Amino acid sequence: MLDIVELEKSFGTTKAVAKATFSVAEGELICLLGPSGCGKSTLLRMIAGLAEQDGGRLLIAGEDVSERAANRRPTAMVFQSHALWNHMSVEQNVAFGLRVRRLPRAEITRKVAEALELVGLSGFGKRRPTELSGGQAQRVALARCLVVEPKVLLMDEPFSALDAHLRKNLREELKQLQRRLGLATIFVTHDQEEAMELADRIVVMSNGAIEQIGPPGDLYLNPQTLTVANFIGAMNSAETTIVNGRADWFGASIAVGRSDGPATVLSRPEDLVRSATGAAGEVSRVVDLGPMMRVLVTMTDGTQLVWLCARDAAPLPGDTVRLVPTRLQVYRDGLLLAAAPPAPVEAPRLMSAVS
Ligand code: ATP
Repeated sequence: MLDIVELEKSFGTTKAVAKATFSVAEGELICLLGPSGCGKSTLLRMIAGLAEQDGGRLLIAGEDVSERAANRRPTAMVFQSHALWNHMSVEQNVAFGLRVRRLPRAEITRKVAEALELVGLSGFGKRRPTELSGGQAQRVALARCLVVEPKVLLMDEPFSALDAHLRKNLREELKQLQRRLGLATIFVTHDQEEAMELADRIVVMSNGAIEQIGPPGDLYLNPQTLTVANFIGAMNSAETTIVNGRADWFGASIAVGRSDGPATVLSRPEDLVRSATGAAGEVSRVVDLGPMMRVLVTMTDGTQLVWLCARDAAPLPGDTVRLVPTRLQVYRDGLLLAAAPPAPVEAPRLMSAVS
């Protein structure tokens, strides 16, 4: 439905978006995820026609819309702030796009009623935006987009001003609605959990460039760059040196198959398990997360590790625990070299690591 081909945008010397290339299928929800300033909004605004592209091409349903003005593109956008007109009723707000298109009055009435029903706001049509809660106002903003039947729905951090509970509910509602309507959707967020919950695929951006594109689980399990690894989920990070093609992690080692040199070894907190042959550390803090316990462990060299463990297996502060990773990821110059379960820890090496 949407093909983005080497889309570029600079502001002076700042490269806001660098040759972005990806496609969005009909019915697919893509999240643009990345830290503040990485270029997410600029990319979305170029797709909407609200920012001019410096280069590249933008195709919607196979048609090049790069040169088309925003109001002539088959896109609709929901912003962080709902941007409803307070002097108009909810119905009039939703009807606005149809009036501009000069649709017959009866058709407008029918379509507005359908759109309000879709977002669960039948019966709210006569209210003013000032008489709505924040969540209801965002639903009206969504109805205003859906009513014009766009080919691509664009959403720029639409729930970020709402409280956490409401945000979660609206995400779920949006996902169900988007599936039902089969609408190609791009959703911008800097919230990793939101992206994981909503997206069919996530596009991770950093400094204007796309770092990796993939389904949430794939990005979580196989981050191809150090940036993605550190941005999606928690990681324990340690600097190491590859010797004889192997990288070491507190006595556990993983084959890297590359020339020796400095590297970064990462392990997920939930990939650490207790083992008699593991590296030893002292528990400095135990945080109760409800379903799991987050345990901070200080290793003998002073490194702090985060370990997620089941609550009934949680140690106490001051206890000594021995940990091994079930999986390690090794990066050099920011790129993935290897990811695998490490070789079993050899007792003599472990002894030297602990002593
Ligand atoms: P946020 O999550 O904070 O909204 P973002 O990932 O959406 O950030 P953008 O707003 O796209 O990032 O900004 C990307 C880069 O382009 C930033 O360095 C920003 O300062 C710069 N930028 C964005 N808009 C303009 C503008 N109108 N003029 C100059 N620089 C801009």
